[in-house]
Amino acid sequence: MLQFGIDLGGTKTEIIALDEQGNELLRRRTPTPRECYSDILDTILTLVRSCANELNQPFTLGLGIPGALSYQTGLVKNANTTCLIGKDLKGDIEKALGQSVVIANDADCLALSEATDGAGAGYPTVFAVIIGTGCGGGWVVNGQLVSGPNAIAGEWGHNPLPWRDSDDNEVQCYCGQHGCQETLLSGTGIRIQALKETGIDQSAEAWVSASEGGDIRAQDVIYKHHRRLAKALAAVINLMDPHAIVLGGGVSNLSSIYRTVPDMLSEWVFSDTVTTPILKSQHGDSSGVRGAAWLGRLNS
Ligand SMILES: [Zn+2]
Repeated sequence: MLQFGIDLGGTKTEIIALDEQGNELLRRRTPTPRECYSDILDTILTLVRSCANELNQPFTLGLGIPGALSYQTGLVKNANTTCLIGKDLKGDIEKALGQSVVIANDADCLALSEATDGAGAGYPTVFAVIIGTGCGGGWVVNGQLVSGPNAIAGEWGHNPLPWRDSDDNEVQCYCGQHGCQETLLSGTGIRIQALKETGIDQSAEAWVSASEGGDIRAQDVIYKHHRRLAKALAAVINLMDPHAIVLGGGVSNLSSIYRTVPDMLSEWVFSDTVTTPILKSQHGDSSGVRGAAWLGRLNS
């Protein structure tokens, strides 16, 4: 049985077909239509049908979305592509294709991908996060995605940052709370915190390159970010003690994270040892779509 996975992103929608061993047989991507549910649905159906015609074999289907399905209603919730909210995406796809589809959050797909055959392969439990424009997380135990009764397991970005320093600036989050980890740790968070600390408004990428170029003020911005990330991960270790933590998303490309954050953890982890590996995602931008493919197989 082949596994088709689709990653529905804010700007592009991608499909991949994997064989049983995880070899990639086919991959296509197309722009995601802007905020129109029926156009998004058509895009998904067209991609699936064209791959099915080309490969002409039975397949499972998984779909990663920037949101989740409500257990109560089966409809999409928490989606930042807001036209999906309240829609019966699963029902509409299944009706059109006559084929079941498993839908999960995109951070959950990253976690499943990396735990299955990526940086977290071989570890019994894996906590994985996307640190990009936002912060989403997922939790995999023995190769199975843990979702929880509220479909929220691993959603770490909207917890407040623990062990705050006086210069951890609280800002309003779109979720309605103040001081969410997402507002401090994401790429957007780096820009906003640095603006408050230095009065300079520039992108996270600009801060990173200035830091790598030896700018002391930029190095301080990046150091503070890594200290906040260490606190946020230390809280995860204290709560769940995962065997590995995998980071994905644009901010995870900062190589200084892997040099400095592991040594910072012991200040807050309630243990005499901290051996938890902090790993960069192996499949990078492809983790979302690969995880979506594994999703279909695990649930078939
Ligand atoms: Zn929030």
